[in-house]
Amino acid sequence: MDLLEHQARDLFAAHGVPVPRGRVAATPDEARAAAVDLGGAVVVKAQVKTGGRGKAGGVKLAAGPDDAARIADEILGMDLKGHRVHRVLVTEASDIADEYYVSYLLDRADRTFLAMASAAGGMDIEEVAATRPEALVKVPIDLRVGVDLVRARRIAAAARLPVEAAGVLVRLWDVFTAEDATLVEVNPLARTRGGEIVALDGKVTLDDNAAFRHPGHRAFAEADTGDPLEQQAAEQGLNYVKLDGDIGVIGNGAGLVMSTLDVVAAAAQDAGAVGPANFLDIGGGASAEIMSAGLGVILGDPAVRSVFVNVFGGITACDAVADGIVKALALLGDRATKPLVVRLDGNNVAEGRRILDEAAHPLVTVVATMDDAAREAAKLAAGTEG
Ligand code: GDP
Ligand code: MN
Repeated sequence: MDLLEHQARDLFAAHGVPVPRGRVAATPDEARAAAVDLGGAVVVKAQVKTGGRGKAGGVKLAAGPDDAARIADEILGMDLKGHRVHRVLVTEASDIADEYYVSYLLDRADRTFLAMASAAGGMDIEEVAATRPEALVKVPIDLRVGVDLVRARRIAAAARLPVEAAGVLVRLWDVFTAEDATLVEVNPLARTRGGEIVALDGKVTLDDNAAFRHPGHRAFAEADTGDPLEQQAAEQGLNYVKLDGDIGVIGNGAGLVMSTLDVVAAAAQDAGAVGPANFLDIGGGASAEIMSAGLGVILGDPAVRSVFVNVFGGITACDAVADGIVKALALLGDRATKPLVVRLDGNNVAEGRRILDEAAHPLVTVVATMDDAAREAAKLAAGTEG
């Protein structure tokens, strides 16, 4: 789970990482009140799970309360790379002397944990890594010893960070391990003109597999003001990701769904449709309940114009899946309004197709191959057929 900046900074503060005082606001009036509370100049920051907010106009300096309200009004409702801004974080403005980059992450490729640090923080770190790789220091961390003050000083020195940053590096490592994170990133870690080291931005990814150890983390998901369809899907235990297209996709198995997205994207291009509207893996047990929950979420997306159900029968055989589709459509009743193209293959496929043929639901078309089914779904979405 990725955290919003204000959630990350709450974790930072809980582990003694210095952060500027701040408050979350959902309206311009709340932003004004926050600025009154904080006093002086403040920074108004869009709370969305995407980077580069500063460049995109989602982070702005405000001289005082009225300015903060005006800027919050500008930023709230803004679309930042497809993420709608529902909340802003209002923080006291820091007088920045230098901006650094620091992070800890799980390096899956090298099977280790990594500290990364650079004195060229603030801007796009990918660009620093690409154009001046020597300016980004990477230090493997042995989990058994972690990051103590001696090691933190070594990292800071290697990256040409001031020695005072070492204490913050130790505390950030504490965040990383104690909270079971797979990423803790601070960009910028700033040195103020007063000589303080403060984390002015925070990006944290928590390891969902460790969620059971952290009941307190549940509040982060509940406060998630992300996509309402994704939230509905998460509540029903569905593996759903919203995308920007017009063709709903349901499949069993993440690999199959991923390749379905590719096929649908290509077919959409040919047919003049937009592309896949979502990723949805209903997993192994494609019961009627899971199928109807999945269809319910997809049909709730107004952008969807057709749905491609792509199932390869394995342990759950095609007849059970076909049965699930028929029952799901019955459960959905009037809410099932968009054409479904179904491709079934694998275990017990003949019986599965027979069940769908027999039900003869007016919205369902059964197509034998994945490519043909994707083409059919794309045509239906583009409105060039039916
Ligand atoms: P990002 O663009 O999404 O990474 O958002 P950041 O939180 O990193 O903010 C972008 C930039 O805004 C930072 O690199 C800083 O240069 C600037 N910024 C953020 N907070 C402050 C602050 O308190 N004072 C000043 N002067 N600039 C700030
Ligand atoms: Mn940043």
